[in-house]
Amino acid sequence: MVGEEFFEKAMEELREKNLDWKLRSMESASDARSIVEGKEVIVLCSNNYLGLSNNPELKKAAIKAVEKYGVGSGSVRAIAGTMDLHLKLEETIARFKGTESAVYYQTGFAVNAGLIPAVMQNGDLIISDELNHGSIIDGVRLSKAERAVYAHCDMEKLAETLEESDKKEYNKKLIVTDGVFSMDGDIAPLDKISKLAKKHNTMVYVDDAHGDGVLGEKGKGIVNHFKLEGKVEFEMGTFSKAFGVIGGYVSGSKAMCDYAYNKSRTWLLSGSSPPAVTAACIASLELLERDDSYVKKLWDNTKYFKEKLKVLGFDTGKSQTPITPIMLGESSVAVKFSQRLFEERVFALPIVYPMVAKDKARIRTMVNAAHSKEDLDEALEKFEKIGKELKVLN
Ligand SMILES: *Cc1c(COP(=O)(O)O)cnc(C)c1O
Repeated sequence: MVGEEFFEKAMEELREKNLDWKLRSMESASDARSIVEGKEVIVLCSNNYLGLSNNPELKKAAIKAVEKYGVGSGSVRAIAGTMDLHLKLEETIARFKGTESAVYYQTGFAVNAGLIPAVMQNGDLIISDELNHGSIIDGVRLSKAERAVYAHCDMEKLAETLEESDKKEYNKKLIVTDGVFSMDGDIAPLDKISKLAKKHNTMVYVDDAHGDGVLGEKGKGIVNHFKLEGKVEFEMGTFSKAFGVIGGYVSGSKAMCDYAYNKSRTWLLSGSSPPAVTAACIASLELLERDDSYVKKLWDNTKYFKEKLKVLGFDTGKSQTPITPIMLGESSVAVKFSQRLFEERVFALPIVYPMVAKDKARIRTMVNAAHSKEDLDEALEKFEKIGKELKVLN
């Protein structure tokens, strides 16, 4: 076959550097404990923050939708693929977020890759945090706008960039940032960003993938957390993390949302999400509107787990959210640590160079609302045992 040499050589290089992904197969639902490669493990690396991906209410909604609507939507949204379910979901998102309108996309990636280039054109400027998610980076790459990158969450650098931009005649300017950064679990200072943006007549686009269902009242996200309702032009997020299903959305003004679906190529040219998924997304938001116990439990577990890790003597970095990194330094230590955890039935992955700096390798953990105290205690016991074994702890 043509190209084999290229693939083989490229993969050899990846394997040599230990940068190839080794997939582990999950043989049950994603939950507090799941069956992975034939054994039950405590899952500390899923984004299923509220434990909703195996929730009976969401499952029931999905099954009911399959019975009434079948398994596929049959088309892209703009042709014959808009079911009443999609419209209801968009209304529900707008209500949950407290915005005028919302558009539901197939994934969060599809929002960033489709919407950013649709909005930002020749003669515009995009200003982006250096640690933004890859889907934002790709969206920015697809845009014909000029771009500037500022040091991570550095408001002085952002202010400088904005002042510089005032000297030129851009048609539109946009600051784009992750709400919660997925490697360190820190929160973007959206209040400060919003103030600076206003001063310099610039729009704000926040990617709330790790803040949805986590931050704010009832998990309404980062804009609610900072009380910035009505001040952020684009609230983008995902249903694949805390909301437990899959899909992406943008919410904001009606005019922006109308533009978004008319112009996003990812939305216009790709089939709409299936009935089961769409119905489960609606059920997920309805559940959170009614019942805040999931969000409370997530934060209880987060505080408990972080506190205990610190008492054990681990360095948990600067996280302010349920994403808790356990800083280990060398990549090889992080890889070994993760392997040992898996042998001890704890599933948590290492994050190593080039995803993070060479001396900042870590195990990244994410507790969720489905974990019991027993689950967390058992995991902590293993962390302590392996920490001592690998001489990370004294
Ligand atoms: C996960 C993630 C996405 C992608 O969302 P999907 O709905 O899974 O495609 C986008 N941005 C950020 C910051 C993410 O963490």
